[in-house]
Amino acid sequence: MAVEARTKYETVIGIEVHAQLRTDSKMFCGCPTAPPDGGTDEPNTRVCPICLGLPGTLPVINRRAVELVMLTGLALNCHVETDAVRFERKNYFYPDLPKGYQISQYALPLTSNGRLVVNVPSEGAEVTIGITRAHLEEDTARMQHAGRGYSVVDFNRAGVPLMEIVTEPDLRSPAQARAYGETLRELLRAIGASNADMEAGSMRIEGNVSVRPAGSTTFGTKVEVKNLNSFRSLERAMAYEVERHVAALEVGEALTQETRGWDEEAGRTIVQRSKEEANDYRYFPEPDLPPLRPSDAWVAELRDRLPELPAQRRTRYTDELGLSPYDAGVLTADVALADYFDAVVAAGVTPKAAANWISGELSRLLNQHAAEGLRADAVALRPDGLAELIGEVEAGRVSSINAKAVLATAFESGESPRAIIEREGLGAVSDAGAIGAEIEAVLAEFPSQVAEYRDGKQQLFGFLVGQVMKRTAGRADAKLVNEELRRRLD
Ligand code: ADP
Ligand code: MG
Ligand code: ZN
Repeated sequence: MAVEARTKYETVIGIEVHAQLRTDSKMFCGCPTAPPDGGTDEPNTRVCPICLGLPGTLPVINRRAVELVMLTGLALNCHVETDAVRFERKNYFYPDLPKGYQISQYALPLTSNGRLVVNVPSEGAEVTIGITRAHLEEDTARMQHAGRGYSVVDFNRAGVPLMEIVTEPDLRSPAQARAYGETLRELLRAIGASNADMEAGSMRIEGNVSVRPAGSTTFGTKVEVKNLNSFRSLERAMAYEVERHVAALEVGEALTQETRGWDEEAGRTIVQRSKEEANDYRYFPEPDLPPLRPSDAWVAELRDRLPELPAQRRTRYTDELGLSPYDAGVLTADVALADYFDAVVAAGVTPKAAANWISGELSRLLNQHAAEGLRADAVALRPDGLAELIGEVEAGRVSSINAKAVLATAFESGESPRAIIEREGLGAVSDAGAIGAEIEAVLAEFPSQVAEYRDGKQQLFGFLVGQVMKRTAGRADAKLVNEELRRRLD
């Protein structure tokens, strides 16, 4: 599509996220939320009359789940409601919902009216996204369509505490939508509210999108996109919808308000349900549960318990540690990586050097293991080990090239970098005599390059340095090589 067509319109996106809360037991009964450590999850084993919705049972509110939603609300600068928050029944019929209704919050959510500051690296900007609400509800069972016209259902997930977080329609691009999802994931992990793992289904995301003529103050017709399995899918699906909407408006076609599903392989969305078929949930107050009245003291205690949030960390890294906004962004995009960084700095490394190694080599190695979901807290080499290696580099006892090789080995084995340097004979050659001899050999081997350099072809200096490093298998002290080579050439 022509660029002019696209810039005539503004994109509007709002996001709905469902996150499973990190509790041991379910929302309204004592059933465990996960199989015992190391055990396999046999379908329909973590169930009881309450989460199976049998008649005559009464739900009991999980205090920990209430706390985690309040904690999330506080982290998102929300108002926490302390005045009689009612649970309500959201009625609809589906085989994954044994009671015929889901217990949720509707008219008055536990927390509302907040904001999240999101750093959008690809746009070089920070945006503030309004949070409409974060409320508490329960998860449904898991359906599996087995083909041949029948389906099976597993109630282990039924009644697991779930939080829904809804944004205002404040996002203005697919990249912002993705950055919001990633930022929210890190926040939920930082406060321990949820594992927030899209692949494992503990975080699920829906994107609502519309476009409007640039400058317009009313919203266009919105489409809700479901079935998004990753943040990348979210970004792609939003971009696909924006193109589709603009193309329709350009030829004067009206859009329909509907729910669509993202087909990852085909890279497009398909209609699932139009507005006319939308459910009427007939919400009404849950008569079996008392209204929630969190005390001010409880809210204050939770506020005190909030750990340093990713955005605060970013500010501390730039303002107190002097890191670039880029480095601060990379490090705080992943709680485990930021914790690792803090530990390396605590071990005595300067923040700048620690940031270089962690956002550079360490992140590169982590990326190679991304498929296994390896995070910094599970890397064999602990922060004091990396601090030891950086110390060796700064003391000139190992070249930075060889230090990278040492890091790759220690990353896998957890061995002390000093021990690896010793064993593999990777220690730096910083003896001026030995380096001088290698330089003489290089000058003798490349006389024409030497002559050209002396005639003013400055770039050849780097070539000659490279040759010296090659002859010493990367062990020569680079600073010394530079000095010695210059002394002999000039
Ligand atoms: P629904 O009742 O269809 O669920 P809501 O008003 O609850 O709609 O909004 C759901 C989500 O859609 C929210 O994140 C909201 O910000 C977003 N949204 C609402 N209107 C629009 C719009 N015109 N374009 C994009 N997103 C929108
Ligand atoms: Mg909605
Ligand atoms: Zn149960």
